[in-house]
Amino acid sequence: WKKHATAVVTGANKGIGFAIAKKLGKEGVTTILTARNPELGAAAQKQLKEEGVDVEFHQLDISDKDSVKSFAKWLEKEHGGLDILVNNAGFAFKGNTFGANEARQTNAINYFGTRNVTQELLPLLKKSSAGARVVTVGSRAGTLSILSPELQRKFSDPELTLEQLDQLMNEFPNQIEAGTYKQNGWPASMYGVSKVGVAAFNRILARDLAKRGDDGKVLVNVCCPGYVNTDMSSHRGYKTIDEGADTPVWLALQPPDGPSGRFFTDRRDVGY
Ligand code: NDP
Repeated sequence: WKKHATAVVTGANKGIGFAIAKKLGKEGVTTILTARNPELGAAAQKQLKEEGVDVEFHQLDISDKDSVKSFAKWLEKEHGGLDILVNNAGFAFKGNTFGANEARQTNAINYFGTRNVTQELLPLLKKSSAGARVVTVGSRAGTLSILSPELQRKFSDPELTLEQLDQLMNEFPNQIEAGTYKQNGWPASMYGVSKVGVAAFNRILARDLAKRGDDGKVLVNVCCPGYVNTDMSSHRGYKTIDEGADTPVWLALQPPDGPSGRFFTDRRDVGY
């Protein structure tokens, strides 16, 4: 089925996303490398071509609704949809930067961006007999354990709706602004909270697909790539980008009866 599948990888001009696009392209999957910056995206596509891997390129800024909409339109017209979505694009401030607006900016990409792209592309998932897959690159820096027990209960509530999750995600920067975030159980990690949101979105999505009877057709999983040598980790990570891409690609190529709604690291289900 791989040879007939179409995959979209976000934030693939460099780092782990670039390695994911390369691996999927090598597997014979029709791969669309996306990047918010067209020049950087085209350069990445060219680099892969020089390495003997053919991928397509299209601009996609996950935090820009117009960009997401025009990408979805193009994808439907050119490919009739997609079989695999890899939500890899992510952002983190460097050093000790911390503030309400910075937390909003981090959420706008990592949480709201990932959720908007997924919701926009969900109707375009082809759901062939081989099924479809949504893989989101989260982080072990964003496990529930970074929150107070009360917030953990809210985030992991099996009845949590997307609207309630959005509200929770907006509460964090608002409470930083008010100076009340600590006493209300939030950590001093903007990146961590944004990734808690991404993981909670994954659980909600898996649950809602199961309710619709689509759980056997669309596998949705979140994973941590490990500590990877990229710009994001200021090149302190010990894994290569190819090693970081291993679990996301493994999830992207799961058989139709593969896992769903789970959190993986190093190909292991490690829980939220
Ligand atoms: P990089 O900083 O190397 O790459 C991040 C990619 O995301 C870049 O292509 C960047 O584009 C893109 N991006 C950022 N914002 C947007 C946006 N609004 N729309 C589209 N693309 C965007 O980081 P990594 O490769 O390390 O990170 C990849 C994923 O892995 C992220 O989700 C990250 O959180 C996660 N992760 C990484 C870990 C690590 O140790 N490196 C550990 C745990 C998780 P541009 O070049 O234009 O900035």
